[in-house]
Amino acid sequence: MKEINSTEFDLEVLQGGKVILDFYSIECPPCEALASKFEDLSKLYGKDIKFLKIYRQQNRELAEKLGVKSSPTLLFFNEGNEIGQRLTGGIKRSDIIHNLDLMLSDNRLKEIKSKIKPSVSEYDVIILGAGPGGLTAGLYLCQSKINTVLVDIALPGGQVSTTHEVSNYPGFIEPQAGYLLSHNMSEQTKLCGTVYKVAVDITKVDLAKKEVVIDEFQTIRAKKIVIATGTTPNSTGASGEKAHKGKGISYCATCDAKFFDNKEVIVIGGGNSAVEESDFISRFASKVTIVHQFEKLTANKKAQEKLLANPKMNFIFNSEPRVFDKDGDKMVTEIENLITGEKTKLVSDGVFIFIGMKPNIELFKDNLKLDQWGYIISDENMQTSISDIYAVGDVTSKKYRQITTAVADGTIAAMAIAKELN
Ligand SMILES: Cc1cc2nc3c(=O)[nH]c(=O)nc-3n(C[C@H](O)[C@H](O)[C@H](O)COP(=O)(O)OP(=O)(O)OC[C@H]3O[C@@H](n4cnc5c(N)ncnc54)[C@H](O)[C@@H]3O)c2cc1C
Repeated sequence: MKEINSTEFDLEVLQGGKVILDFYSIECPPCEALASKFEDLSKLYGKDIKFLKIYRQQNRELAEKLGVKSSPTLLFFNEGNEIGQRLTGGIKRSDIIHNLDLMLSDNRLKEIKSKIKPSVSEYDVIILGAGPGGLTAGLYLCQSKINTVLVDIALPGGQVSTTHEVSNYPGFIEPQAGYLLSHNMSEQTKLCGTVYKVAVDITKVDLAKKEVVIDEFQTIRAKKIVIATGTTPNSTGASGEKAHKGKGISYCATCDAKFFDNKEVIVIGGGNSAVEESDFISRFASKVTIVHQFEKLTANKKAQEKLLANPKMNFIFNSEPRVFDKDGDKMVTEIENLITGEKTKLVSDGVFIFIGMKPNIELFKDNLKLDQWGYIISDENMQTSISDIYAVGDVTSKKYRQITTAVADGTIAAMAIAKELN
């Protein structure tokens, strides 16, 4: 592995054969998350592929010339030509390997992969998920001198990091940018000394053995596991939904409705949460239009009646969104009438999607006691139906899912664990 600067780019990269180049910055959490993976892979592939790093801030001109706009960015070159896909953000080991493998022959790859040595590490506690619940558990455990590792498939922060503004987290007079609040939570926990393994692939979770395998070959064992994996909103499948998430499309009325004072809003869905949340949004918005796939609302009767009598409400039935787009500050939602096939464009100030959430439990649901919606049941200490396995935050069975409730769960689990382990 070698550090270069822009004057060496031609020689080291363009005339350098097979090269992987890491544009990094300092004070950059995703760069820190990448560093150990980069070093690890250099030991494995280093004989065949040059592993180079370049400090972006000091080589700004080159970065701009190459179109590198964020740190870290990984570029791959073969004989002076850029190949594969550029990687940026929370870069996974498997994505790097995918690109490196494109440069080598099958036989050489077989040789390299036969050299991979599985590793095993031991901790007191593994926390799965580094959102507010997991980060808080990590902070409390670390402050109790309990050897803890936080494992996340993405970068730390959870759903808050993609939230535009948070105005209801106590302790801040002004609304906080979601990414900043989650960054501060994460830095506080990291500074304490909690070990982070983030942007990893979770290969296997064995709750009975209290064992988690990440990136295929790294086994992590612990005395206890805290599940803090949160939820994922169901998606409409319409194009543009992912791109406009947090930038015009929201999944949380408590969090975002207040930003639509006197504005026009579209709500996708017609079940209980869509109806109840629309009622709440209508306290702020001047007009709320529900787009629902069925011919009538499917929420409970009482909530429906209240909403149908609300003068701010409009309803478009038998319709589904097909495209979400932006026109300046406005959201443009193209909907399709499921009976006639007719397509219509609706212009609004924002879109809320309430078509259900699903708990992130795919890897370990088999033996846990779940409620009827698939959320993990835990007791007053956040202990699940399996001993030494705890669950906190949105992934648990509860009525209200907020940052404050996730943080409270994380606190309780960590204090209960600390008491047992000490
Ligand atoms: C758009 C939006 C806006 C919101 N605004 C607010 C607000 O203003 N105020 C408020 O109080 N609440 C708000 N919320 C709700 C709040 O974000 C959640 O209640 C809170 O983040 C829950 O924290 P958590 O730690 O339980 O889960 P999450 O924040 O969901 O974090 C879960 C973490 O687990 C990781 N993960 C998932 N699967 C796995 C796996 N298999 N292994 C390892 N890691 C995994 C994820 O990558 C993620 O980092 C908002 C939610 C949304 C969607």
